[in-house]
Amino acid sequence: MSLEEARAFGFETRQLHAGQRPDPNTGARAVPIFQTTSYVFEDPESAAAYFNLQEYGNTYSRIMNPTVAVFEERVANLEGGAGAVAFASGIAAQAAALFTLLRPGDHVVASTALYGGTVNQLKHVLGKLSVELSWVDPDHADAWRQAVRPNTKAFFAETIGNPAGNVLDIETVATIAHEHDLPLIVDNTFATPYLCRPIDWGADIVIHSATKFLGGHGTSIGGVVVEAGTFDWSNGRFPVIAEPSPAYHGLRFHETFGTYGYLMKLRAETLRDLGGALSPFNAFLFLQGLETLSLRMERHVANALAVAEFLRSHGLASNVSHPGLADSRYRPLVDKYLPRGAGAVFSFDCAGGRAGGQGLISGLTLWSHLANVGDAKSLVIHPASTTHRQLSDEELAAAGVGPGTVRLSVGTESVDDLIWDLQNGFKHVAASIDGQVTA
Ligand SMILES: *Cc1c(COP(=O)(O)O)cnc(C)c1O
Repeated sequence: MSLEEARAFGFETRQLHAGQRPDPNTGARAVPIFQTTSYVFEDPESAAAYFNLQEYGNTYSRIMNPTVAVFEERVANLEGGAGAVAFASGIAAQAAALFTLLRPGDHVVASTALYGGTVNQLKHVLGKLSVELSWVDPDHADAWRQAVRPNTKAFFAETIGNPAGNVLDIETVATIAHEHDLPLIVDNTFATPYLCRPIDWGADIVIHSATKFLGGHGTSIGGVVVEAGTFDWSNGRFPVIAEPSPAYHGLRFHETFGTYGYLMKLRAETLRDLGGALSPFNAFLFLQGLETLSLRMERHVANALAVAEFLRSHGLASNVSHPGLADSRYRPLVDKYLPRGAGAVFSFDCAGGRAGGQGLISGLTLWSHLANVGDAKSLVIHPASTTHRQLSDEELAAAGVGPGTVRLSVGTESVDDLIWDLQNGFKHVAASIDGQVTA
């Protein structure tokens, strides 16, 4: 009897153990870093069987690696998916997830409340590949429904949008997608599977930038795609997955691998042909991060709510977008989808517009001014001049970004220290506003 059969283990147990046994050759308890490009085949027959995908075995670390495989299995387990494929970045993961199911002339419906880098990718890379795109306000179910066309292949959204804090009504949007035989792809980076498991609510594909909370320490770039394994890729809309693949000697991925059809194509074709493989060393660091995911997230969400409440009562801050605040319009969705907490990334508008936002940041010492989120350390950025710089004013407004908007990623420090530092920052803002008035 395997451990999994013995008992349905809790999240905290699985974040430490899922996907790994102590190494049978050495007894090593930690996951070894298999820093190897390639693997010696037992004999020519098994080598052929691996390359034919008749047997599952290691060939080359662009396609699979034992350290990376533990990370993939652990994330799939925590998200409740059938399996996962890791990538060198979150951006590579979502490109591969989409590339696997799209052809030129197809159409994707995407939320307007997305990470800036995702907006660039969808707009420019998909455009280059002649894939059409419709943007919808993720909060309006009818907008998703009305955007569907005969050539639509997927819905794309984030669990918690950045930086406006929109919480996706996953179950409703998944139901609309399924009414049209479409998969819902959810970027769950900001929630992590500890706060929300989109697959439990009907999402078909879950994407992460592991760079953020999964790794949790700001050391490594990586991404991962998890698939539920329940979507019917043979429903007539996805010949690219159901019909014989010219890139894999006529293999029909969905018919051959069933539950794993999409994931096999994602690995054996997309990862093989586009590259972007996660390094074993980074997979090791992500596994270190995953071991404490629930512990960090508990502190992240508690600190974030305390900082949000401080800001809401501060005269120089407005529009605090933390969806967990009692008066947030997303509160019912938080209660449903994020009962453990509404994440640790949110924004607010600093008084004084662009100069105010930048002034606040110059007055901070503990918060790090940089373009990342999901580190154990607290981070701050002014999106209009950095991450969202490529967006037009209309796109900025659609993404909920104003000239004075400041985005926080609240870390796991002593919360009183974080608030003390923000108070100092606001003194700086007040001084600069006074300066403007008297100047
Ligand atoms: C960072 C991020 C990405 C991109 O991931 P990288 O690892 O930076 O390539 C995608 N989506 C969200 C929500 C992110 O925060």
